[in-house]
Amino acid sequence: MTTWQSFLEKNRERYIEELFEFVRIPSVSAMKVHIPDVKRAGEWVVSRLESAGIEHVELMPTGGHPVVYGDWLHAGEDQPTILIYGHFDVQPPDPLDLWESPPFEPVMKNGRIYGRGASDDKGGMLTPIIAVEALLNTEGKLPVNVKFCFEGQEEIGSPQIPDFLEKHKEKFAADLVLSSDGLLWSADVPMMLTGLKGLASFEIHVTGPEQDLHSGLGGVVQNPLEALSRLIATMRHDDGQIAIEGFYDDVRDLTEEERHQFSESPYDEEAHKTQLGIKEFFGEPGFTNRERNWARPTLDINGMWGGYQGDGTKTVIPSKAYAKFTCRLVVDQHPDKIVELVRQHVAKHTPVGVTAVVVSSNDKGMPYLIPSDHPANNIVGQVLTEVFGTEPHFARVGGSIPITDSFRASLGAWTFNFGWTVMDENLHAPNEFVRVRNFERGQRAYCMILHRFKKE
Ligand SMILES: [Zn+2]
Repeated sequence: MTTWQSFLEKNRERYIEELFEFVRIPSVSAMKVHIPDVKRAGEWVVSRLESAGIEHVELMPTGGHPVVYGDWLHAGEDQPTILIYGHFDVQPPDPLDLWESPPFEPVMKNGRIYGRGASDDKGGMLTPIIAVEALLNTEGKLPVNVKFCFEGQEEIGSPQIPDFLEKHKEKFAADLVLSSDGLLWSADVPMMLTGLKGLASFEIHVTGPEQDLHSGLGGVVQNPLEALSRLIATMRHDDGQIAIEGFYDDVRDLTEEERHQFSESPYDEEAHKTQLGIKEFFGEPGFTNRERNWARPTLDINGMWGGYQGDGTKTVIPSKAYAKFTCRLVVDQHPDKIVELVRQHVAKHTPVGVTAVVVSSNDKGMPYLIPSDHPANNIVGQVLTEVFGTEPHFARVGGSIPITDSFRASLGAWTFNFGWTVMDENLHAPNEFVRVRNFERGQRAYCMILHRFKKE
């Protein structure tokens, strides 16, 4: 009997050829002219899933770029259902003149495949399809129930996906999600990505006099720009701690184990400074940079405006002043509560002579942290260790991934990073490439992990 290992080995050339074929479809979701190509890429995925032996495959309309669904559900009701996620749309290829070979004419050079989407995420999302094909061909069945969710709008922020998933949550229901749109720590070191930050966003609008005034009146009225500056200054202490009352109340303290995990992941402070173009770090006292970045909430002014900004001088006291803020949140903070705390703070600290309103925005997201005792953590960690020959580094991200929010909100399922992209592979830039050895490691990793999820 052939094993899945030998099946993968025997079909190596074909899989590379298939990735080439997939990359040749210019499925740029951001560009109107490529709408049919995104659909064509979806159809390519449909037929590829079918030829792998997946059932109930369909291209589902979303109101925007489509989603591809497929499943194989014969492992039995006592076995878990794993949803595998990826995306078949790509970033625009511009600037074209910086590509060494045309973006949609893939080439192989030194063990790398160059082309738009080769790494993000066409190479990634092909690996689980290849894996189920190898398992079905050599074992006649899959160890667990498997569903697929491949979307065509990730690179434009998945505008229709949250509603789509909510509407089809029965169909996509699963015990957990594996994301092929995931990262490695570096070319040969895997990564366990366990946490993402949430987001709260709001503006503060300050109004002083009913209209702009001549600055000759400056001795007798409050200046809204100055009042806004003073107000903002009350929101954070000089040492970097956020001064909004109650802001940290819901933040979960880091455990000793988490602090240890963080310190085990390599970090070069000097290189980080150079990368950021800064001379000094600044942040909340009592925490390392890692801890601040991965596990502590933030408050940032993203823009401030008002008054005269043209050439020369204008002797004016402006009527209004504005600022935009975002907070990156950690478990168990809630964006609505944070905005409410800001409101209370602003009401208490608004300088005399102006009014200040806090305007909340719909750009918000819940923080995300996979429970440390989730049984899949061990399974994912073991498979990555075996495939890469080295243990994964733990990581969290200071930003957010909207799709994981949707899977959590609509399906109640946690998403595990199980993709093969390395940050140096020019994602979203000219000369994107994927390393063939990771494309192949990914195929093995998916075969292995589906076996490990099987309940005996
Ligand atoms: Zn991606």
